[in-house]
Amino acid sequence: MNNLVVLKFGGTSLADASQIKKAAGIIKANPARKFVILSAPGKRFSDDIKVTDLLYKCHQEAQNGGDFSQTLAKISDRYSEIIKDLGVDFDIKSEIEIIKKNLEAGITPDYPASRGEYINSKIIAKFLGWPFVDAAEIIFFNENGILDEEKTFSAAGEKLKSLENAVIPGFYGAMPDGKIKTFSRGGSDVTGSIIARSVSADLYENWTDVSGMLSADPRIVKNPKVIEYITYTELRELSYMGASVLHEDAVFPVRKAGIPINIRNTNKPDDNGTLIAASLPKNIEKRAVTGIAGRKGFTSIRVEKSMMNVETGFGAKLLYIFSRNGIPFEHCPTGIDAISVVINSELFDQKRETVLREIKSELNPDFITIEKNLASIAVVGEGMISVKGMAARVFDALAKADINIRMIDQGSDELNIIVGIDEAEYEKAINALYSKMIA
Ligand code: ADP
Ligand code: ASP
Ligand code: MG
Repeated sequence: MNNLVVLKFGGTSLADASQIKKAAGIIKANPARKFVILSAPGKRFSDDIKVTDLLYKCHQEAQNGGDFSQTLAKISDRYSEIIKDLGVDFDIKSEIEIIKKNLEAGITPDYPASRGEYINSKIIAKFLGWPFVDAAEIIFFNENGILDEEKTFSAAGEKLKSLENAVIPGFYGAMPDGKIKTFSRGGSDVTGSIIARSVSADLYENWTDVSGMLSADPRIVKNPKVIEYITYTELRELSYMGASVLHEDAVFPVRKAGIPINIRNTNKPDDNGTLIAASLPKNIEKRAVTGIAGRKGFTSIRVEKSMMNVETGFGAKLLYIFSRNGIPFEHCPTGIDAISVVINSELFDQKRETVLREIKSELNPDFITIEKNLASIAVVGEGMISVKGMAARVFDALAKADINIRMIDQGSDELNIIVGIDEAEYEKAINALYSKMIA
C-alpha cells in the first residue's frame, strides 16, 4: 500500500491548460498523492520554445544591454493563456514586473530561470486549491553550491509535515545568502526526489510524455521496448550516458531511503510505466541487457610515451591537468605506452591551448593525437556479468553495420560496455546495437 506518494510533472505535461487539467485529474485520482512538484510550461508542439528557455533568453538579452521586453511578453502571454483557460484568478502582470526589475538590476541567470516553475506552481496551486510552498524555503545549497542534504531534508520534512497537501516548484533552491540557485537542466526531477526523501514517501511518481524508461532513445529507434523494471544503478548509468528521461542525479536522494520511482505517462495514465528500485522482482525474466544510451560531443586526447609504464604517476599527472582546467574526464582507456582521456568537446575547446601546452611541458610525451567528433554509447545491464560473449556481440553488431570502434571501455562493475565511435554514425550504431542486443 502506498500511503504517501510524491509526484512530479514535467514541462510537456504542463505545457498548456489542457495538459494541466490532465495532471490535475491524475493528482486528484489518488488521495495518497499529497505533494506535487511542478516544472515550467514546456513545449506544446515540436518547434515551440520552453518557458525556461525564454527566461534564459531574457537574461541573455538583458546582459547584452538589449531589449528583452518582447521575450518577456511571450512568457507573460503563455501564462495569461493558461490562467484564462483554467479560469483562475491570478495577477501575472505583477509577477512579470518583479522579474523585469530584477533583470534590469543585473541579477544572475538562476533567478529568472527559476521563475518558470515558481509562477506555474503558484497558478496550479490555485487551480487545485492546495497551498503553495516555495522551494527557496525548503531546499538549501551550501556555499559551494552543493545540496545541503541535512538542512534540506529536515526543513522540507518539517514544513510539509504540517500540511495535508502542497504544490512545490521544481528546479531550484536557495544559497546560504538567500539567493536563488537552480539545479542543472531537467532538475525538477531532482527536486521531486529530494521531497520524496524528506517526507519519507512510499513512492515517487515521475510523470512525463513517454510510458517509462525505454530501452533506447525513441527519437532514434522506432518503438523501443519499455523497461518495466530497472535498478537504481542501471537507471543512473543509462541516464548519465544520455537517456534523458530522468535527470541523472534524481536517483540519489530516494535510493538511500529505498523509495521506488515510477516513471509514468501523463497522456496514457493507464500504462504502468517503469518501476525503479534497488533490485528486480524475483519472478521477472532474467535479461542481460537492460538498455542502450549514448551522447555525442566528445574528444579523445591520446598521449603516447615509450616506457610510460615505469614512469610513476604519469596517469595521475595527466588527469590532474584536465581537472585543474575544470574538465572532468568521461573515460580513460589505458595501454602500456599510451593513455587516452575522453572529455566533453565543448569544455576542451575552451581550454585547448592551455591543456596541450601543459601536457607537453609537464609530461614530455612522444606524441599527442586528438580525435574530435566522437560519440560514446553504453550498453547497460546488471545481467551482463553472468552472460558470456556480451562484448563480442557488441563488436559484431557494430562490425556488421560497418562502424569503426574508436574506443572501448568496460566499467569496473561490469554493468556496462562503452564504445566510442564517429559521431556521424551515432544513430546507425544505436539502431544496430538495439537490433542485436534487445529487439
Ligand atoms: P519532462 O519534461 O517530462 O521532464 P523530458 O523531456 O525531460 O520530460 O524527458 C522525456 C523525454 O526523454 C522523452 O520525450 C524522450 O524523447 C526522451 N528520451 C531519451 N531517451 C529516452 C529513453 N531511453 N526512454 C524514454 N525517453 C527517452
Ligand atoms: N524547467 C527546467 C528545464 O527546462 C527544469 C525541468 O523542467 O526539470 O530544464
Ligand atoms: Mg525532464
